[in-house]
Amino acid sequence: MFPITISLILFIGLTAFAYSLFKRIAVLLSAKGQESRWDHLLSRLQKVLIFALGQKRLLVRDTPSGIMHALIFWGFCVISIRTITFFAMGYSADFTLPLMETWVGLVYNITLTLFLVLVILACLYGIYRRLIIRPARLTLSLEAVFILCVITILCLSDFLFEGVRYTAMGIADPGAFLSAPFSVLFTGLSLDALTVWGAAFYFIHILSIIGFLNYLPYGKHFHIITSLPNVFLYKTKPVGQLSTIDLTNENATTFGVGRIEQFSWKNYLDWYSCTECGRCSAQCPAHNSEKPLNPKELSITLRNALYGKTGKLVDKCRGKYNGSLDDAGFIPDETPLLGETISHDVLWSCTSCRACEEACPVCIEYVQEIVDMRRHLVLMEGSFPPELQAVFQNLERNGNPWGISFNDRAAWAADLNIPTLADNPHVEYLYFVGCAGSFDEQNKKVSRAFVKLLQKAGVSFGILGVEEKCNGDSARRLGNEYLAQMLMQENIANLNKYNVKKIITTCPHCYNTIKNEYSQFGGNFEVITHTDFLKTLITEGRLKPEKAIAQTLTVHDSCYLGRYNDVYDSPRDVLKAIPGIKLVEMTNSRDTARCCGAGGGRMWLEEKLGKRVNQMRLEDVKTTPAELVATACPFCKTMLTDAIGETKTENLNSRDIAELLLESVGE
Ligand code: SF4
Ligand code: SF4
Repeated sequence: MFPITISLILFIGLTAFAYSLFKRIAVLLSAKGQESRWDHLLSRLQKVLIFALGQKRLLVRDTPSGIMHALIFWGFCVISIRTITFFAMGYSADFTLPLMETWVGLVYNITLTLFLVLVILACLYGIYRRLIIRPARLTLSLEAVFILCVITILCLSDFLFEGVRYTAMGIADPGAFLSAPFSVLFTGLSLDALTVWGAAFYFIHILSIIGFLNYLPYGKHFHIITSLPNVFLYKTKPVGQLSTIDLTNENATTFGVGRIEQFSWKNYLDWYSCTECGRCSAQCPAHNSEKPLNPKELSITLRNALYGKTGKLVDKCRGKYNGSLDDAGFIPDETPLLGETISHDVLWSCTSCRACEEACPVCIEYVQEIVDMRRHLVLMEGSFPPELQAVFQNLERNGNPWGISFNDRAAWAADLNIPTLADNPHVEYLYFVGCAGSFDEQNKKVSRAFVKLLQKAGVSFGILGVEEKCNGDSARRLGNEYLAQMLMQENIANLNKYNVKKIITTCPHCYNTIKNEYSQFGGNFEVITHTDFLKTLITEGRLKPEKAIAQTLTVHDSCYLGRYNDVYDSPRDVLKAIPGIKLVEMTNSRDTARCCGAGGGRMWLEEKLGKRVNQMRLEDVKTTPAELVATACPFCKTMLTDAIGETKTENLNSRDIAELLLESVGE
């Protein structure tokens, strides 16, 4: 028993830890607020159960490393109960927790012994993986290796301590089946020697725990503390809904995020929680195509910038709570974040595909963060790639990015006898065509095919015609919130004028924005994507695909249908209903599908850096025997068709699912 020593270790160790934690929490409290994240408690707990405690994303993707991490995590949960006993033994050598002398103790000790072994093996594998295998997504980090060594020592010292105890006293906790085998190491030692060895292993164990605890707030292993709350505080709003800015607020001095202190507490918590696993970067089309954006590095850079301001932000927190300093009184550093710490090219490289968010085991949110910084560049600094100047102007003047006269918006439908809502506001559905479907040659064919299918099925529908404008998605994701809100509000005014209730779309960007974002401005509609709608028409027998299309196809999942809105099945189900089609899948499909490169407004940006993302996606297609890639998004179709042309690929084509269905149903 070492009551004084243990008390001192606990006092110093816990005080130091509390101080470090206080600073980290004070920084969080200094940040500006966000929407409340205390709603949907059950769904939050479910998320914690699945993603944090269940380690789902780790186990499903890159399973070997997932198992390694899960074993260490679950092992830690089991070992933490033992830790209480260990500290208490410093005061009373016979201490046992309640129930530990019953069958509960037996079960616990068996579980503990198993986990101690598994954690040691997992740590050894982790060290081997980092030093020898060196997966590309991991940065060689001595910190990680050091921590794995500490955890191994922590587990081994427990076994060795129990081995000494068994040798000296001939007793072991019930179920601690490795105490006897470990005691062999100490057979023949005198009682004095055993006492010294016992104390040594005891203190190695205790000091490893206290040292580890105090190290946590200063490295990437802080995620051990923050990842559970971070998962719990995940975004319950639709993932496709960006935050809105009150542009009418005359007191606002800034828009978007241009400085570390302008991020929200959730951004800070995200950075605290980043495990640096690199799963985001491994999926990121920008990073994989050699653009300067690497989501993992972005988190680390922002976290380092935040840590560099800890002192100032702790003062800000104090001032905020004792009333001595308001936001206006806070004097920020003069070093600009954007352009210095984070280059503009990093921000403009993002396609907003959400592959990073879908891969992140601790549910870190990237798209909003990047759009917030783009908003600052566009709205506050007027800084954006030069080619966007014309795009913004075209959207403002003609409601489409190409700048074609808004009067020609319905020209594609001139011979199709489609009522506009001005002619007949009593139709059941509004078909929101979108800019590509209205003006782009190859996508006008998709709109026409879709309309013919609707007419064949006897659907009551109309279009807005010249009253339709771009849905606002590109402008919003390019950071031009002012223009985006203008477009969205104009569309909503027209839709509400005709009392529209149900909207069908052929463009996933229209679908996502109208479905998830228009409600922020008073537009509440039931929005249906064309693949879901066509699937229903087939199921109801209103469309009968009878002509065979004898081709092998693969489906390219649009980010804004799949990862944003969970629409994965209907594109495949429609194709499966067409006789003759043989469907094959790419390795990167459904939630791991590689972006085509056009999202986040990148459709309108030149791709000057690295490889072309659309060509990389085409390479994915070419790994299958497909002769045709089926799309359900005008941007994806354009990007893939371009890639086929750029690479002079023969015997491969890209068609929208509506075009294929019409061919089978017959005009
Ligand atoms: S949204 Fe896509 S492009 Fe942007 S950082 Fe994430 S993975 Fe990369
Ligand atoms: S953001 Fe998430 S996926 Fe990316 S390195 Fe950090 S923890 Fe891993």
